[in-house]
Amino acid sequence: MTDHFDDKEEIIEDTDSRDDDQDRDEYEKFCFLCHRPESQAGKMIELPNNIHICSDCMQKSFDTMTSQMNNGKINYTDLFNMPNISMIDLSSLQDAVPRPKKVKKKKAQEKPVIDLKKIPAPHKIKATLDEYVIGQEKAKKVMSVAVYNHYKRVATDTMDDIEIEKSNMLMIGPTGCGKTYLVKTLAKLLDVPLAIADATSLTEAGYIGDDIESVISKLLAAADNDVEKAEHGIVFIDEIDKIAKKKNTNQRDVSGEAVQQGLLKLLEGSEVEVPVGANSKNAMVPMVTVNTKNILFICGGAFPDLENIIKERLNKQAAIGFYADLKDKYDNDPHLLEKVTVEDIRNFGMIPEFIGRLPVIFTLGGLTEEMLVKILKEPKNAILKQYQKLLALDEVKLEFEDGALHAIAAKALEKNTGARALRAILEEYMLDIMYEIPKDDSIGQVIITKEYIEGNGGPRILLRGQEVPLLCSAD
Ligand code: ADP
Repeated sequence: MTDHFDDKEEIIEDTDSRDDDQDRDEYEKFCFLCHRPESQAGKMIELPNNIHICSDCMQKSFDTMTSQMNNGKINYTDLFNMPNISMIDLSSLQDAVPRPKKVKKKKAQEKPVIDLKKIPAPHKIKATLDEYVIGQEKAKKVMSVAVYNHYKRVATDTMDDIEIEKSNMLMIGPTGCGKTYLVKTLAKLLDVPLAIADATSLTEAGYIGDDIESVISKLLAAADNDVEKAEHGIVFIDEIDKIAKKKNTNQRDVSGEAVQQGLLKLLEGSEVEVPVGANSKNAMVPMVTVNTKNILFICGGAFPDLENIIKERLNKQAAIGFYADLKDKYDNDPHLLEKVTVEDIRNFGMIPEFIGRLPVIFTLGGLTEEMLVKILKEPKNAILKQYQKLLALDEVKLEFEDGALHAIAAKALEKNTGARALRAILEEYMLDIMYEIPKDDSIGQVIITKEYIEGNGGPRILLRGQEVPLLCSAD
């Protein structure tokens, strides 16, 4: 019995002292000598009996003493032996000097990182994406809804028994079709930090390559080492198809299946210790803990051969029963990739647990010549607009014939790298123009012709005052 009582008393005492500490933290300290509060006088020096002295007063006292000693009026031994100087008993002074009123410290305003009311509605997110990304309507719609739901989930944070699942995404589409560009635009629109990682550089911890957790380090760096900001960011892992399970291998799959396994806990939400301001852990680098619960993970990949897997499945289904006669139906289907199922992705080599943590799966189509032409001239920061702006600074108008744009798009299509080829091709043709035009002040307009792009002619150069109306502008 007595034991129990003792325990209780100890607990009470403990809470008391905690209250006291809290109390002291909540009130501002005042300088014992000049009575200025800590907010004015700066950091206080603590003396016994809850007495504080500001550094100014402390310095003044030292200065007076040293000047007295320098003048030879006193020396160290005198200081303690002088009859009229004794060590002051500060506690006796405490009651004599009226204590300044306690003023509560102003609490730093607590602002939620994500404001539910500020998350744009899905149609607004899509409208902004439309300004930058051409085509890919389905992908833009799916992403807008998923992102909206994700940040709603983050903002509410008071999950009861109905827990909203995380909207991590898997985007499947050929190279250069706008996967990275979509994610970048989204992050900019939402004003959240973004880390872009390449799955091919990741390996299981302990092997040559980047640790899986390095993606969180990158995000932390993108958030200027602000952990809270990083915890609401977006991580884009590109080339995710390259970490598919290796088939027929007897060695340990350190850059394939093991990486998928390693990513599981990040995707799901866990506390990860990451180095601040460095990519690798070592004894010299401070570490912080980042919770990945609210980080949105988007994985992207081209998944070559996935179409064959889909076709095989569909043909197998077709071979059974009445559909047997439609066997070759899917050979030239341009929408084959859209028919992808989780089963197909698993057959490709992604482990079921991994796919399970990416509940939003969607595909992006390859870009057509028409889309490439639009990419050249329509987005807010279209490449043509950039060149036009550059030349406009020299007061020269730059125009492109429609045929020229199609010729550029056709050349890009041949390279099979999507819209990525556009800039390189255009740069090649613009180099001479950008070099020659500033030489001659009399030039007022340059028209890029189809013949110039196809190599059997040159651009049309018009002098000032002879400009012709637009044939095709970027607007
Ligand atoms: P990937 O799908 O391989 O990630 P990116 O998103 O990196 O391709 O695309 C490369 C570049 O091509 C982008 O920086 C962007 O300028 C342009 N681009 C690609 N697709 C589109 C699109 N649908 N609309 C506008 N620009 C695009």
